[in-house]
Amino acid sequence: MQKGELLYEGKAKKVYRTDDPGVYLVEYKDDATAFNGLKKGVISGKGELNNKISAHFFRLLEGKGIATHFVKQVGEREMLVRALEIIPVEVVVRNIAAGSLARRLGMDEGTALPRPVVEYYYKSDELGDPMINDDHIAVLNLATGEEMSAIKKVALSVNEILRSYLTPRNLELVDFKLEFGRHEGKILLGDEISPDTCRFWDTRTKEKLDKDRFRRDLGGVEEAYQEVWRRLVG
Ligand code: UDP
Repeated sequence: MQKGELLYEGKAKKVYRTDDPGVYLVEYKDDATAFNGLKKGVISGKGELNNKISAHFFRLLEGKGIATHFVKQVGEREMLVRALEIIPVEVVVRNIAAGSLARRLGMDEGTALPRPVVEYYYKSDELGDPMINDDHIAVLNLATGEEMSAIKKVALSVNEILRSYLTPRNLELVDFKLEFGRHEGKILLGDEISPDTCRFWDTRTKEKLDKDRFRRDLGGVEEAYQEVWRRLVG
């Protein structure tokens, strides 16, 4: 498949056209940003690891009946995906209090939540991705109520599938962010599923094996991403 025009360059990925108008090529970069772009860095090897880890999770989810944009992995840091009209809503699912939820609700990081919590954030760099609810989504005309109920159901299924897969691999799924889009009238899970977009903790030691190592200057960032990969396939 021919790599065509660069359509979009984001903080962690580039998206190219291909010779098939319904398929895009995603290239995962080593660049890392945090705090709405205020903190910038490079994590060597990250692009390749996030591509492999995302492809692995998308295959797992497809196998369990979740419709995703994933087509196939085509290079060390490249995958083919179905072209999506992205819904500008970040869907966060949480099992354990951490990050912004711990701050907002005054909970200690690490407190287990009695049931999963789903949150929505409006994807807008200018506004700093504010948290929104179903009414805001309707008023801003970002998605229909029907689409949002389907999205919430899929997000919770993804949570269950990933947790069941990760628990025996000694990884705790603390929280994660998903994005969805429309393709030929269907809603598909898009974007990526990687240590950039999920919090993974070692079940026993609670060691952080995700982007919080970069956000919080904990060191060993690349090693943590490699460790996640090793546990997924090892
Ligand atoms: N997340 C993400 N992209 C964002 C914001 C959050 O992938 O722009 C992920 C983050 O990695 C974590 C989850 O969503 O797994 C919840 O993040 P949180 O709201 O706690 O934000 P933070 O405090 O990390 O900024």
